[in-house]
Amino acid sequence: MKIAIASGKGGTGKTTIAVSLALAADGPVHYADCDVEEPNGHIFLKPTLNQCREFALTVPEVVEAQCTGCGECRELCRFNAITVFGSMAMAFTELCHSCGGCFLVCPEDALNKGKRLLGLLESGQAGNIGFSQGTLRIGEAMAAPLIAAVREEAAQKQGLVILDAPPGTSCPLIAAITGADYTLLVSEETPFGLHDLQLAVGVLRKLEQPFGVIINRADLGDGRTGQWCREENIPVHLEIPFERKIAEGYAAGIPLVHCRPDLLPAFSTLLKELTP
Ligand code: SF4
Ligand code: SF4
Repeated sequence: MKIAIASGKGGTGKTTIAVSLALAADGPVHYADCDVEEPNGHIFLKPTLNQCREFALTVPEVVEAQCTGCGECRELCRFNAITVFGSMAMAFTELCHSCGGCFLVCPEDALNKGKRLLGLLESGQAGNIGFSQGTLRIGEAMAAPLIAAVREEAAQKQGLVILDAPPGTSCPLIAAITGADYTLLVSEETPFGLHDLQLAVGVLRKLEQPFGVIINRADLGDGRTGQWCREENIPVHLEIPFERKIAEGYAAGIPLVHCRPDLLPAFSTLLKELTP
């Protein structure tokens, strides 16, 4: 069972919810931080990381002596990552999506397989919770392949898998939630929260994946997020209050369910409802 925790908008408390669910699980559970631009689940779960490996994309390197400048590779590449100057191809590897097409069409076998480092994949253990995270290399813009790698590795684990997705509604989100059995969208009672929740719901509906909502800091704001969910028949599974104690705990790296142990049963119940 794979449960993704996502939010259209950043800063809604997605990691707070993902970590709380991992801590509330009473069977085998694995937490995977797919927010590779800024993974922060480790701050709360404090795992021991004992495996680390580099993750790279395969990109073309032109072999000058063999390239005739025929342009077949340029014609094929929809990302403009390879072009021809004069009688020789030139690859712009930072634009390459590693589709592999240019290797296939080159009639001269003039492309070698080079590597572009995207980031690191790390894993370990946080008590009874399996833990993994991806960290995008500084300066790298292409997060989705690394996110997909974190998700795919986590999907091999036994038991419950919690996927902490990146914010937003574009490729990184889709890379994290594709194939999830259920997605919990964390939102808040603000106009921005509602707007971005609506965008995220649009994505989930396009993907035809089941989802529900958790409203964080539910007693701050205008109440329109909950009202919209009711109008749209979207289940609101939990409402977390705004409290100084919770905010102080977050700032100190203390999980929500340790600051407010009385909320733990609500997360346990939610897991029982969602897991078969
Ligand atoms: S691997 Fe694909 S994206 Fe990269 S340069 Fe070749 S055709 Fe373009
Ligand atoms: S397809 Fe091969 S031979 Fe033709 S321009 Fe590209 S790299 Fe050079």
